[in-house]
Amino acid sequence: MDLNKFKLIWNMFLCWIMKSILILAACLISISAQNTILMEEQKVNEDKPMISFTFDDGKTSDLAGYKLADWHGRILRALDKHQLKAIMFVAGHNKKTVNGKYVLSTWNNAGHYLANHTLNHPNFNDDAVTLAQFQNELLADEEVLKNYSNFIKLFRFPYLKEGNTPEKVNGFRSFLKQHGYKHGAVTVDASDWYIDSRLRKRLTENPEAAIEGFKKYYINHLYEKAIFYDSISLVLNGRHIAHSLLLHHNLVAGLFLDDLITHFKAKGWRVVDAHKAFEDPIYNTITNTVPAGESLTWSMAKQSGRFDKILRYPAEGDQYEKDKMDALGL
Ligand SMILES: [Zn+2]
Repeated sequence: MDLNKFKLIWNMFLCWIMKSILILAACLISISAQNTILMEEQKVNEDKPMISFTFDDGKTSDLAGYKLADWHGRILRALDKHQLKAIMFVAGHNKKTVNGKYVLSTWNNAGHYLANHTLNHPNFNDDAVTLAQFQNELLADEEVLKNYSNFIKLFRFPYLKEGNTPEKVNGFRSFLKQHGYKHGAVTVDASDWYIDSRLRKRLTENPEAAIEGFKKYYINHLYEKAIFYDSISLVLNGRHIAHSLLLHHNLVAGLFLDDLITHFKAKGWRVVDAHKAFEDPIYNTITNTVPAGESLTWSMAKQSGRFDKILRYPAEGDQYEKDKMDALGL
């Protein structure tokens, strides 16, 4: 090989090396920039409160002039529009009928989840309800749900009442564990069911009644409750947890759920799938208040002893909403 040819090849080789180094450096800078953006995005996300939607009980009839397929279908369409998956905590007593099976199968087939809420919805804090009876309630509800593909072993206590004696509380917690269940706790408690009952009463009396005021009250009430419980949770946990909002499967959700989800998004909240929210380790928290129950946030706040001035018992209820709704003519 003559010297010129060798120099040419050598220069080409050097050129290739230089180019490779430059490309590699550019790649590294780009990856690092992307990482910075991702980390910043994550930080912004971590600063945002987070909410998921759960629906208790499960109604199976036409309501105040709305056919079951209509109001139930509206709930499914609202969830679909926002690409959200929800959980229904099912009280199975009314689900063995054609309508009951319709509600469960359409819910299941839309990709939402079904979880246990006892068969007959007893109050576990009632002296008359024994541990053995309550255990049978879970097993009987499981019979109704177990053949649906999206049945998951989460359990929610009716009225959020977890037992009025240490024997009942601890006995049922052990029972849940033995049967592979996790506690489907609520972290944002509210009184949507009461707004629903007044809305249905109004529409039954007058099918043409204006319902805009109910929509406003529903959204404001639920949003205020979310802010209240998230602010307590932030103090207790030092972060925004993945909240599970307690709603019910009812007419008011059918009419206004889309607006409610839109409202949370507009206020900068992250809306998340309910079954994923329950992966948050906060749901492994065991509190030791007796009587046990209410929302997990309430119970943790009570146990901390730091919020006694603002905690009330029961945490939520119609008694807190009645006068306000009366004054608004709702
Ligand atoms: Zn319930």
